[in-house]
Amino acid sequence: MLNLDFHPIGRHFLQIPGPSPVPDRILRAMSLPTIDHRGPEFGALGLKVLADIQKIFQTRHPVIIYPASGTGAWEAALCNTMSPGDTVLMFETGHFASLWQKMAARLGLKTEVLSYQGSDSVLTGAPGWRQGVQADQIETRLKADTQHGIKAVCVVHNETSTGVTSDIAAVRRAIDNAKHPALLMVDTISGLASADYQHDAWGVDVAISGSQKGLMLPPGISFNALSPKAIEVSKSAKLPKAFWAWDEIIELNKTGYFPYTPSTNLLYGLNEACDMLLAQGLDAVFARHQRWGAGVRAAVRAWGLEIQCADPAVYSPVLTGVLMPEGVDADAVRKIIYERFDCSLGTGLGKVKGRMFRIGHLGDCNDLTLVAALSGCEMGMKLAGIKLAESGVLAAMDYFANHPAFVPVPRAR
Ligand SMILES: *Cc1c(COP(=O)(O)O)cnc(C)c1O
Repeated sequence: MLNLDFHPIGRHFLQIPGPSPVPDRILRAMSLPTIDHRGPEFGALGLKVLADIQKIFQTRHPVIIYPASGTGAWEAALCNTMSPGDTVLMFETGHFASLWQKMAARLGLKTEVLSYQGSDSVLTGAPGWRQGVQADQIETRLKADTQHGIKAVCVVHNETSTGVTSDIAAVRRAIDNAKHPALLMVDTISGLASADYQHDAWGVDVAISGSQKGLMLPPGISFNALSPKAIEVSKSAKLPKAFWAWDEIIELNKTGYFPYTPSTNLLYGLNEACDMLLAQGLDAVFARHQRWGAGVRAAVRAWGLEIQCADPAVYSPVLTGVLMPEGVDADAVRKIIYERFDCSLGTGLGKVKGRMFRIGHLGDCNDLTLVAALSGCEMGMKLAGIKLAESGVLAAMDYFANHPAFVPVPRAR
């Protein structure tokens, strides 16, 4: 039986790293009547959101908006730029990097996958899943590719499965140092609008993002941010593309329209989300997620548990992965927290299933939301019989109290 009203009284804590909670302001904006997508009002909306989303990606080049989840935009990035049998170089930072690799293989591309080299703890049975991309490995591999068989380097900016970011500017430098023409493609599906992402300054050719993470929207739209080089390459790329093809979309977008029916109401939401983010300023947005990440990590340390990310230089401002003590099933703990305290946490994905859970601190959040979510975690872990060193909730409270926010959380709702 479908029951869409299954939440107990009070508000549900949606603390998974996407979909993230949708602010009331955005929900209200999306409740406006759907308009004619070929009519005069729509063109103005289209032009507005297309201009705003460029600011969010920090780019002056076209951004494509698809009526699809992030996975669709992954496919679009590849099928617009690659030809059958082309090689793409990828880096296994976690589950999402692995899924993108599988998709590339299904599309008929050859995939070469690098993974972390070094004394990483293999605690999780997933070596390399606690670290970011090593750009020097990419540089070495590209230098050896003297025939330029590698057509793209694909990396994930914020690995949502682990809570680890990667240094995208360093990957750009690696490609430049190798004097290699490969395109740089970046999945910032969960990074955008919570973690700093600079499309033009970092020299990214194709970026992929989605609506339901940092942008605070429901799932359903996704993005490709382009570079002039990517657009040029797409003109001779030979993988079949029709629905995803950039050329017709770019042409119609010039007047604010789309070649097929866009997700009108999600675009109302996008308009509102961009207004909120840009009014506050991206620097303030990024700073607040860094701060929340630090508070949540203070809690994990106080509990005496390990953070999935083993390198402090690349801690994610979007989410924190919490490793469970040996022998504890993380999903059983999540189940208790969900059933007893009405709080959803992210499950361990792929190789870390059952070993860890994930706490989201992306999108629409505040100090007390996180303190409450952490108290749900703390109560649930105690009920599951986990021996915690100290109270993580108190540690997070201390952190938030002693580290005032960069700018006040805006009051307007
Ligand atoms: C959520 C996510 C995806 C998948 O996006 P969908 O919208 O679920 O298709 C891919 N990569 C990363 C890094 C993600 O966080």
